[in-house]
Amino acid sequence: MSESQSITRYPHIINGEKREPGSGKYIPVFNPATNELIAEAAQGTPEDLDIAVHAAREAFNCKAWCNMPATERSRLLYAIANTVMANAQELAQLEVSASGGTISRVMGMDIPALADMFMVLAEEVKRFPFVDNLPARPLPEPTHTQVWREPVGVCALITAWNVPLLLFALKVAPALATGNTVVIKPSELTPTSTLRLVELLCELLPKGVLNVVNGRGEVIGDAMCRHPDIDKISFTGSTRVGKQVQQVAAQSLKRVSVELGGKGPGIVLPDADLELVAYGALYGVYLNGGQACESGTRLLVHDSIHDELVAKLAALSTQIVLGDPASPATGMGPMSSAAHGEKVLEYVNSAVEEGATVLCGGARAEVPGCEGGYFVEPTVLTEVHNGMKVAREEIFGPVLCVIKFSTEEEAIAIANDTDYGLSAGIWTADVVGAQQLARQLQAGSIWINDWHMIRMDAPFGGFKQSGYGREGGMESLHHYVEVKSVSTAFERNVRKKPLHRLVHKLLA
Ligand code: NAD
Repeated sequence: MSESQSITRYPHIINGEKREPGSGKYIPVFNPATNELIAEAAQGTPEDLDIAVHAAREAFNCKAWCNMPATERSRLLYAIANTVMANAQELAQLEVSASGGTISRVMGMDIPALADMFMVLAEEVKRFPFVDNLPARPLPEPTHTQVWREPVGVCALITAWNVPLLLFALKVAPALATGNTVVIKPSELTPTSTLRLVELLCELLPKGVLNVVNGRGEVIGDAMCRHPDIDKISFTGSTRVGKQVQQVAAQSLKRVSVELGGKGPGIVLPDADLELVAYGALYGVYLNGGQACESGTRLLVHDSIHDELVAKLAALSTQIVLGDPASPATGMGPMSSAAHGEKVLEYVNSAVEEGATVLCGGARAEVPGCEGGYFVEPTVLTEVHNGMKVAREEIFGPVLCVIKFSTEEEAIAIANDTDYGLSAGIWTADVVGAQQLARQLQAGSIWINDWHMIRMDAPFGGFKQSGYGREGGMESLHHYVEVKSVSTAFERNVRKKPLHRLVHKLLA
């Protein structure tokens, strides 16, 4: 971008209006494909957050919002989906320029999923059990009990840098569908699509229902976890920060859900279609340059098919088109930053030091026209064992670790021998047998004969240190409500109340 081109400034959006940061400062936003400055977004302060939380609280206290009938709320969620689709091109361009995700993925996957999440919940909200009637219990006396599900209150939503619009959908849709109000904090690295989307949605929503405060995680994210008037935190990010969020939020016992990292194992059985596995496993690890929590980063391959499969993996990897993510011809974009790219290659070096072989890739790639970006070649490592650093830690780059196994029991043991539990998969012709294996895998999503099979109507989330709580579908609504039991006694004659006499001996 030439110096003469103006840089768009994004203030916060609070109470339906743009608001300058109290600090007067803005955080630069760079295009990771070129390292060019593309925008500036407000550098929030805890005081800015206070103002946003106050607006969200006022909006929550307005009972018209949280008591809105489900049919009306459903119409609103559909209207949000329509607004997303009407502005798809602009939102996608903002997403691509800040995150480095390819335009083909963002337009083909993320934008449709963003709209779909709101449409799915527009239907689910009509059948969600906001009020359940329990069967009457005549003993010890006739009573009627209902279970009410009410919005939690003011929700602080903290999202990661890698797929901001998708994470927006997974959090904002269920929060609004259940009548909460929201303050969202996008990653300071990629805030532009969220800031623009909130601006668009404020046209549809009552003031203060949806607010966005941009800022650094250790300032705004941390202040959210401490804020006395925030009721719930929903966090997506690294396991390290997720643990901090949980600890800090525990001081006021806020409701917390955390969606964290992963180290997805895919088990390839001897009867698998190796052509399908080669394409599918590489789609599983190279989508977004491996910068996806649910990536399939460990491929566990049966001895008998190992050599044939790795030959296919190497041949296909070299055909992945690295390039400018804004070009529809690009299959894989840049790393989020040069520092992150260096870290990815350090992992590759550590694998070699521990005895692994670089089958292909393993170096920085030059991309003409994107000299300022940091691209890593699609990389396949063989001779990996599960104790190596590359097999244990989340690399967040385009690096596939191939690990051999001999028996199904061994494959399951290796797959589960990890701190994480977000995604896992099985490649086989025997889909019935795969169901039995799926029972033994410790992960929130199991994919059979494909990867990234994320549906907006299905729950998504982690076992173990990949987090807890679930996003997507009806399940997600349960994470944004408090449950209240409301019981009514019908007997008014104290002498006929069997339990009162336990205390009032006069009645006995
Ligand atoms: P990160 O943990 O560095 O940051 C995530 C968010 O937390 C950002 O908005 C950041 O500003 C904020 N933050 C930072 N410090 C904070 C603090 N002390 N208190 C509160 N908030 C703070 O993660 P990242 O680099 O943005 O994203 C990559 C990670 O996210 C990977 O580990 C990836 O696996 C994970 N991720 C998980 C999912 C999922 O659904 N499970 C989805 C996407 C990404």
